[in-house]
Amino acid sequence: MIVKTHGIVLAQTPLSSQDKRLTLLTSDFGLVDAIARNVSGARSKLSAAAEVLAYNDFCLFKGKSGYIVNSADLENNFYGLREDLVNLSLAGYFCELTRFVLPSEDNGGEILRLLLNTLYLLEKRKRTPNFLKPVYELRLLSLSGFAPNLHNCCICGEEGLEEVYFLPVDGRVICGNCLQKHPYDKLKIILPAAVRKAMEYILNADSRQLFAFQLTPDSEKLLEAVSEAFTLCHAGGKFKSLEFYKSITI
Ligand SMILES: [Zn+2]
Repeated sequence: MIVKTHGIVLAQTPLSSQDKRLTLLTSDFGLVDAIARNVSGARSKLSAAAEVLAYNDFCLFKGKSGYIVNSADLENNFYGLREDLVNLSLAGYFCELTRFVLPSEDNGGEILRLLLNTLYLLEKRKRTPNFLKPVYELRLLSLSGFAPNLHNCCICGEEGLEEVYFLPVDGRVICGNCLQKHPYDKLKIILPAAVRKAMEYILNADSRQLFAFQLTPDSEKLLEAVSEAFTLCHAGGKFKSLEFYKSITI
């Protein structure tokens, strides 16, 4: 059976000198692996479409043992990202993190739109890597069902507090009073109101308005640290691409 879908290549693995396995984030089927045949060599029609970050209009053959790429029309390869190692390595981290959350048929389309919009802003340098990284992480985790609860203290339930502590392992916040009464030995990060509001905005904003906010440099730095701590707690491990990105940006 032939199926059509839009999708971006998140990873590729060589299977032989000519064939590759592509990991695709598609609008209709979420995350899928598809075999691409005869992709090596300058004369291959699929060579450019099989590159990581290539966004294509795909025709896939769906067989008993999985998908095979029948044809792919390249729509965007985000070539400009390759001109800057920081931007390219951040894009690589977005790809690795996206694979980790296993987008499904239900949320794949929305996650694909989020990834394309983020890569566009990164490529065109309309927003900085420091801004785009936490926005992508938090929105992706939220779309994948891992949104933190920032609304009220997890012990006393009080809302609208000016300053709370964020508990990345639990994805919750706790107020200073409750923290004194209930000592907590895991990671906690103080969360000023501006950063909490930015996080709530990222989790809840209409997708067309997602990137339409500004933060002071200090708040942006804290947002990045909080978002990364939360992401790594939920990912339960490390990402090689993130380590590389950090090694060239610090
Ligand atoms: Zn409390």
